[in-house]
Amino acid sequence: MIRVRFAPSPTGNLHIGGARTALFNWLYARAKAGKFILRIEDTDQLRSKKEFLDEITYSLGWLGLNWDEICYQSQRFSLYKEQADKLLKAGSAYIEKSPEGAEAVIFKVSHQKIKVHDLIRGEIEFDASNLKDQVLIKSDGTPTYNFACVVDDATMDISHVIRGDDHISNTPKQVLLYEALGFKVPEFAHLPLILGAEGGRLSKRTGATAISDYRKMGYLAQSLVNYLLLLSWAPGENREIIGLSEAIKLFDIQDVNKTAATFDLDKLNWFNNQYLKKEDPQKLAEQLMPFLIERGSFGKDNPDQAYLLEIVKLFQARLNTLNDFVDWADFFFLKEITPEPQAQEKFLSADLSKEFSLFAQRLEGLKDFDISSIETSFRELIKELGIESKKLIHPIRVALTGKTIGPGLFEVIYYLGKQRTRERLLKWVKKS
Ligand code: GLU
Repeated sequence: MIRVRFAPSPTGNLHIGGARTALFNWLYARAKAGKFILRIEDTDQLRSKKEFLDEITYSLGWLGLNWDEICYQSQRFSLYKEQADKLLKAGSAYIEKSPEGAEAVIFKVSHQKIKVHDLIRGEIEFDASNLKDQVLIKSDGTPTYNFACVVDDATMDISHVIRGDDHISNTPKQVLLYEALGFKVPEFAHLPLILGAEGGRLSKRTGATAISDYRKMGYLAQSLVNYLLLLSWAPGENREIIGLSEAIKLFDIQDVNKTAATFDLDKLNWFNNQYLKKEDPQKLAEQLMPFLIERGSFGKDNPDQAYLLEIVKLFQARLNTLNDFVDWADFFFLKEITPEPQAQEKFLSADLSKEFSLFAQRLEGLKDFDISSIETSFRELIKELGIESKKLIHPIRVALTGKTIGPGLFEVIYYLGKQRTRERLLKWVKKS
């Protein structure tokens, strides 16, 4: 039976690296009809926080990585003590007393060469001759990571330890412990590092962002998962868009890349855009609601759902995140808009009272207020005034939307409607 585990410490949020480790463990369990176990490594009682635990479990659930069992190391201290006593009895460990009389249990490292077969990297040989004796139970009674990890992996029948490359130096120490305790050594698979865009470790700036923050920025769980999958694995045939259920059919741990991956936000944006584009507009509108409400785009009243749907369709193809929609489309929902200062400076400093009021009049008089008649009336006005269209197009856009970029101007006017277009234009007309 395949049993794998994801073992986060609740001393921080779930980040890209942790999510990738969880994903590959989950996928391997699901691909092999095994079990995926969530083990909370909360032995450090001071640094472990409930808010981190909640964020980790919420984010895993949001990503779709459901677990079959959950356990907490803080509830297993007696087991670690029992196993440490076993090593003490066998003479493989000894007690060290601090000057204050506190006792720590120390493991006697046997100096030898240790071979580990890694499912991704192949055979790895470690030389333990320089390894110091290892603390198993600290003088405050808490177990060290390496000890608790081995006791748990062994007693929980973990068949495969799949974790990040950053743990590779722990592996030989753990192998020695398995042997001393008389436990079967599990299979190991060390996932390649994820580097930041500039080559170094992932930093706050380059992707070491909590999964919950990606959610709040408006990334979809499917695109994050798809992106994380492709960061260290290729489903073949140059396929890029792949969902979890299909990945389960194709995944094997041996096929994971050996080389480090680079986190690339542009690529994540590309994935998110692909998923947002394909989303049913109605569903997309539902997902956008909390974002719009949070940003205050709606005021107190719920927006007209049919109207929201129209506007969603207008922007859907170019969204990279759900937040993009709120940033770009807010002017359709807000009662009052405030133009971006630079846009106002550049396009609304000159007096366009005459042009704006003439255009407002023309729109008012349109019998069929549709996109093409709006455009025709604009073109006619330009011609009559003898000016270039860009002289008026940008200022009108800024007056109506507050921004310099957005959907086609005539579509904007159509969806804003006669009344709001008029109000927003006349705001810039000087009263004589
Ligand atoms: N708590 C460890 C970590 O978060 C787990 C490492 C392991 O998977 O063995 O890095």
